Amino acid sequence: MKVIVVGGGLGGLSAAYRLSAFGEQVTVFEKAQRLGGRCATSNIGGFLFDEGAQFFRDSYDSTLKTAISLGLGPELRIPKEPVGLYSRGRLHVFQPRDLACLGAFPLFNARPSEFGGMLSLALRLARDYRKYDVRFPGRWTWSSDENAFGYLKRKIGIELAGDFAEPIVRFALGSDLSEVSVPAFYVALRMLFLDRPGYFAGGMGQLAEAYGGKIECVRGVSVERVVVEKNKVSGLIVKEEDDGKEKVLKARRVICAVPACEISRIAPDIQGKLRLILEECKYSPHMVVCLGFENKLPALPKIILNSSGQRPGFEFCRVSLRNKVDCAQVGQKEATAVYVGQNARALLGEKKENIVRKTVSLLEEIYQAEIEVIHSKVHKHNFGRPIVFPGHSRKIAELWSGRTGIEGLGFAGDWSYAPTVEGAVASGFLAADALLGTGKPRWAL
Ligand SMILES: Cc1cc2nc3c(=O)[nH]c(=O)nc-3n(C[C@H](O)[C@H](O)[C@H](O)COP(=O)(O)OP(=O)(O)OC[C@H]3O[C@@H](n4cnc5c(N)ncnc54)[C@H](O)[C@@H]3O)c2cc1C
Repeated sequence: MKVIVVGGGLGGLSAAYRLSAFGEQVTVFEKAQRLGGRCATSNIGGFLFDEGAQFFRDSYDSTLKTAISLGLGPELRIPKEPVGLYSRGRLHVFQPRDLACLGAFPLFNARPSEFGGMLSLALRLARDYRKYDVRFPGRWTWSSDENAFGYLKRKIGIELAGDFAEPIVRFALGSDLSEVSVPAFYVALRMLFLDRPGYFAGGMGQLAEAYGGKIECVRGVSVERVVVEKNKVSGLIVKEEDDGKEKVLKARRVICAVPACEISRIAPDIQGKLRLILEECKYSPHMVVCLGFENKLPALPKIILNSSGQRPGFEFCRVSLRNKVDCAQVGQKEATAVYVGQNARALLGEKKENIVRKTVSLLEEIYQAEIEVIHSKVHKHNFGRPIVFPGHSRKIAELWSGRTGIEGLGFAGDWSYAPTVEGAVASGFLAADALLGTGKPRWAL
């Protein structure tokens, strides 16, 4: 009665960790040689490059508690770093965690006609602050299906929506403003300006690696099919990446923690509403450009969002002026730029050197300094993050109370939750709880 978890990202690893804490025998099958999926770190020439998730927030309770329980407490870094928004040719600096919702808006950058709208956004954020929690998309439900672009155009006008709101949504949710729901926009605001960003001293991949030390994980094995007989899980067809040979394994309890499109492929027996939701779940591509260099940079905010007015360009960059508690050797710096959606798509066919050159020139423009790169890495995520389009959260919430229709099959992963590290971790815990029958199961196994 071993439980098999498909996918060694944070969703799958969290499910497995919780199950094993309750005495269940669990094995994780991960198709790559490395754990972590979209939250992994590689060491190149002494630089620890985060190839997916760049940081967590101090409001990510499940992530933080888990990291501490895995012994990563001393590795946690939650500095009080400001966030910068580069728009209309100027850098606007926000200090996270002052919890003054007005502080989250560049009011000084607004024209008189935009000011009233900004104020009303701030009031709404203040009123519903606690509702905009990344772990509870069900609570983001909104009566209207209006998208964030329409809403903001009405409130603050098209120009400010592009300059201010779009980079925030692109970074926090990986999508265009016109694709996301209004509550998702408020979640992005809360995350970026009212939560403090934190990270692990050895890179974000440390969390997955720490999990790997506690759980049985088989790497380099891809699950090709979940076998279902009479609406019950009966086994798995797995393929070893090395020799390409397929094997059939018996399994009665399986948690799939892979992107929605992959679940559709490997579990074709899923039908009904769940199948529709899986098929509807769209992803935004992401491209992460990691750079290692030595130059001095002026003391600007380390996290900068780039407004759509500066396009084509990255949506977000993070620069670390590294020291011993950070991810590069003493005296060196590391910068990461993230391109999402259209910007990522436009670069997919480009050569690595061109992508790096373009990124460096944008960074130089923002930081007003020359950057000479020693090492670089370009990482493409075709299925970067699910898009929280209007109605998405409500459908997912419906799923929690419904059944998968297949006995012994559960799901975890950020497709079904919030597109964050916290969403992945919390979804893994929920899937494990459903299997264990502890608390109120969100969806039946
Ligand atoms: C560029 C980028 C930046 C991000 N930045 C942040 C951030 O700063 N902060 C934040 O909180 N979140 C961020 N996120 C989101 C966060 O990284 C994800 O929400 C989270 O890591 C997803 O975890 P997961 O377990 O759901 O999926 P994944 O990490 O995708 O894990 C799925 C795993 O399943 C494996 N797999 C797939 N198919 C199979 C198969 N058939 N058989 C076996 N294994 C399989 C994959 O190889 C993968 O390891 C970012 C995401 C991206 C892409």
